[in-house]
Amino acid sequence: MPKPVVNFDRCKKAKNCVAVCPMNVFDWDDEKGPIVARPDDCIGCKACENGCPEKAIEVIDDDKEEQS
Ligand code: SF4
Repeated sequence: MPKPVVNFDRCKKAKNCVAVCPMNVFDWDDEKGPIVARPDDCIGCKACENGCPEKAIEVIDDDKEEQS
């Protein structure tokens, strides 16, 4: 399943991810920034990754990483 991973060292809290995600995967925390609250809802569209001006989000597919 795809899911977004936030690099908080890069995040400048533009909040684009929250705005562009069609699946409402992110919650927002005024101090921390984006919270991946509903990763199971992610459809892997990469709108968040492509919409982040700081390239702070990477959408990974953990099927590929956790093959047994
Ligand atoms: S890849 Fe698409 S569905 Fe998944 S969190 Fe990013 S914007 Fe939302």
